[in-house]
Parts: sequence; structure tokens; C-alpha cells
Amino acid sequence: MTDTFGRRVDYLRLSVTDLCNYRCRYCMPAEGVPKREHGEILSVEECIEVVQAAARCGVTKVRLTGGEPLIRRGILDICRGIAGIPEVRELCLTTNGSLLPEMAVPLRQAGVDRLNISLDTLRPDRFAAITRTGTLQQALDGIAAAEEAGFTGLKLNTVLIGGFNDDEVGDFLALTVDRPWELRFIELMPMGPCAQWEKTCFLSAGAVLERFPALEPIEAQGVALRYRLPGAKGTVGFISPVSHTFCSQCRRIRVTADGRLKSCLHSREELDLRGLRGAALEEAVRQGILQKPLEHHLSDRPSDTPRSMNQIGG
Ligand code: SAM
Ligand code: SF4
Repeated sequence: MTDTFGRRVDYLRLSVTDLCNYRCRYCMPAEGVPKREHGEILSVEECIEVVQAAARCGVTKVRLTGGEPLIRRGILDICRGIAGIPEVRELCLTTNGSLLPEMAVPLRQAGVDRLNISLDTLRPDRFAAITRTGTLQQALDGIAAAEEAGFTGLKLNTVLIGGFNDDEVGDFLALTVDRPWELRFIELMPMGPCAQWEKTCFLSAGAVLERFPALEPIEAQGVALRYRLPGAKGTVGFISPVSHTFCSQCRRIRVTADGRLKSCLHSREELDLRGLRGAALEEAVRQGILQKPLEHHLSDRPSDTPRSMNQIGG
């Protein structure tokens, strides 16, 4: 369906947990987040019902996220249930990759079409420092497992952080020469633990792009401006939620693991879906879409949401 500003909303990001086995410094506090009571988190059945309701409102693409979706008990049942909804044409999942060696094949069998894997650095010491609990080898093994399981069109998400990984952009681009991956550089958004970080940490994708004049523009995809190194097998995407707000093209709604519909990542507004079923659930999703705000204000101030990214779903 269309929102009040004429945007067709057809993409749902569903968070299946706010817990994670990593503690990325910009996303989660070192101590993690308190484990919630069982009843506070949407059950497997409720996750599927939310997507069914969203599908009746016009959603055709679903991304499962978190926290780390692969640590969620019942994740394969959730995937199977969503993949079986006829209106859902694409089921994607965003992961830190650490559990893909055992999960990639079952995920494919459960109907997941595409994977995005997060990879903020190619240096083992930096990887350990930014994730606090992870190793670069886990991410690399996860990427290899995804390919072996037959996932194509892999996207690797790299959050650009000034003074941390901006000197690695060339190394990342080099990966695309003989690998058919899409590398996606994402601007760091000031929210949660990184809301008050130094200004120098927040790089504009445009400034990074300027350093690589060899990149040739190719067709955009969704909100990503895309490029390719001459002759490269893979592509490069730049996503600029801060410097070039793409709100006018935003087709997304989000549902948090505790069942709150958020029609804008950065808004305080939330609509509680828990306990709703059938027509009432569908009506609530419709209301949420109609309440989608025109834009966020990240260029003026940190995010208005008091939640950190793991509590919403990136
Ligand atoms: N755990 C999974 C992962 O890391 O891919 C899925 C959830 S994570 C919250 C989804 C994506 O959000 C990751 O690529 C992460 O780097 C990104 N992210 C988290 N906090 C962010 C922020 N403040 N600004 C930009 N991206 C952020
Ligand atoms: Fe976990 Fe993903 Fe957040 Fe890192 S970015 S702490 S892997 S949810």
C-alpha cells in the first residue's frame, strides 16, 4: 500500500531477537542487553502472522535481522513460515556470519533467498576490537559457507567509521575484482552507543567515493548508489542515510523483536502489535504505514529513537 506521502511500502525488516553473540562498539553496550522474558518477544507463530498481515498490506520483500538472527531459537521455522507466504517474493537475512558454517545449508533449505553479511574490517586485530567478541576468521568462514551452500549475490555490509576502517576502503574494493560480491559501504548513523561519538567518526560516503575515481557508476538498486571497478566481477554500493537522506524513496517498515512496528528507523513512534491477530493485526500494520513520517533529521541531530540498532533491527 501507499503511505500518506505517496511512497509504496513493500519491504518489511523483521527483527527476531535483540540478543547477539558480538558486541559491536557502535551497536551494543559491552555488557549486552538484558535477556527478556519469553512472552516479551514475538513467538515463531507471531513472527509469521505479522508477516502475513504485512503481506496483505502489500509487503513483498522481507529481511530478517536482529541482534543476530541466527542465534534465535526457531529461526529456521520462522524462515520456512515466511517463505511459504505466497505474496513474499524475496526473503533475505542480515547476519554477522559467525554461525553460517552450520546454518547456511539449512537456511537455504528453509527458503532464504539472499544473505547480507557484515564485515567492517579485513584486519584481524581491528575485527576483534570492533566486535569485542568476534574473530575475522569466523566472518570469512561464514562467507565461504554461504557460497558453498549456493547463495549467490552475496552482499557484504561495511559501516564506514572515520579513524577505524577508512584506510581499508581500497582493500575492500580489491575484493570485488575477482569475486562476484556486492560490497556495501554504509554511513554510520548516530544512535545508541555511537550517538555521541566524535564527529570525525561519521564519514560521508561521497567523500570516500571521491578518493576512488576509477569506480564507474552502474544502475542504482533501492537506496544504494552503485559502482564497479573496470572489469571487476563484483560491485560496490554506497548507502548514505546521513549525508543524502533517501527518505523520499523509503519503502520500509520495521517490526522489533518485542513486536513494535516502527515506520521510521529514527522516529520515537512505535505501534504495539503484540496480542493482535487476524484483521486487527492487519489494521494495525495499515495504521503504522499511514503514520510513516516524511523524513528523519539525522543531518541536524542524533537519532530520535532511544533504541540502539540491535533493539530495532538494522
Ligand atoms: N547482527 C547482524 C549483523 O551484524 O549483520 C544483523 C543486525 S545488525 C544491527 C545489522 C546491520 O546494522 C549491520 O550491518 C551493522 O553494521 C549495522 N549497524 C548497526 N549499528 C549501526 C549504525 N549506528 N549505523 C549504521 N549501521 C549500523
Ligand atoms: Fe551484533 Fe550485528 Fe550489532 Fe554487531 S552489528 S553487535 S553483530 S547486532
